Amino acid sequence: MNQVTLSTDLRKSRQLKPSGNAETVASTPSLDTVQQVDNAEREFRRASQGKSERWTLRTPTKRDIVARLERVSAEDSLRLKQCCSAFRVLTCGTHTLRSYPTFRCKKMFCPDCASERANRLSRQTEAKITEAMRSNKGRLCLLTLTMKNAATLDGGLSKLKKCFAQFKRKKIFKERIRGYFGAFEYTFNPKTNDFHIHLHLIVLRGKFWNQSDISDAWRDVTGDSFIVDIREIKDAHKGVKEVCKYVVKSNDLMKMPDARFLEVVKMKKGTRMFISGGCFYNVKLDEDADDADDNIFSQFADLTEGDACPFCKEELFDVFVDRQQHIGLHELNAMPNIVKQNSS
Ligand SMILES: [Zn+2]
Ligand SMILES: [Zn+2]
Repeated sequence: MNQVTLSTDLRKSRQLKPSGNAETVASTPSLDTVQQVDNAEREFRRASQGKSERWTLRTPTKRDIVARLERVSAEDSLRLKQCCSAFRVLTCGTHTLRSYPTFRCKKMFCPDCASERANRLSRQTEAKITEAMRSNKGRLCLLTLTMKNAATLDGGLSKLKKCFAQFKRKKIFKERIRGYFGAFEYTFNPKTNDFHIHLHLIVLRGKFWNQSDISDAWRDVTGDSFIVDIREIKDAHKGVKEVCKYVVKSNDLMKMPDARFLEVVKMKKGTRMFISGGCFYNVKLDEDADDADDNIFSQFADLTEGDACPFCKEELFDVFVDRQQHIGLHELNAMPNIVKQNSS
């Protein structure tokens, strides 16, 4: 019998999975996948010996960020470590009907929570934008507004928010833009030790508005910043994905000195990172929603332990899967089959 542990970092299983279904990544850890991942990782390590550069340039994993955070704030590091470390799975032994982590930290710098959030937001946003465009004519564009580098994250963010508030009140903005939905993003520059904060917007443009006019209008409200970019997009799906990605890249996090990293960690809870207005005003986002509310298997949301599996009529039971520890015998017997349904 196979000795099975679930010690492998689940994020790796996501990253190493064949691409193409990024949007519908099931978060259920399965033993088969985990073992494949173990093998894949070993292979990858072997292949990258001698190509150590490629290995060192890899995207930091959650484990890296946890370790990095330990130096700055032990408490937050622990929360990050516990986030998505255990899953509750509703299964009949053959089919997985529901699976979600028992705890999420919901921090913006958490890779697990960031990707879950990005997926959920882009799903919600795309549906609402498509809806709004049925009754509003115009071209869909991606508009990026940038600010000169900011000494502090909080300060830079609130300055950008203030500038945008003025910008959207301008006559020219009201004439040209019928609806907007936007998300803030920031990067970090280790050389200058400051933040570069910008705003990505998906806008419904009426009359043409060229880049240099936008730039002038933007300089008008910011005083010193004028770098903007506007481009038409054909595909609302791609545009929304572009806007709803991450707030900060994990690569940037790792480059920050402790004091800077602490600024990110201690950013006020509930700081709004999304804005919307005009005919996209209804693109309201429930930033606090949970996997449990919006599970990828939500069509089975009403099922609970003891109900019959809709596929095979077997009785459903809850399994607790812990990534760190060995799992119990009961779970062990049931687990190896779970993967069958997930991969479909
Ligand atoms: Zn998290
Ligand atoms: Zn079943």
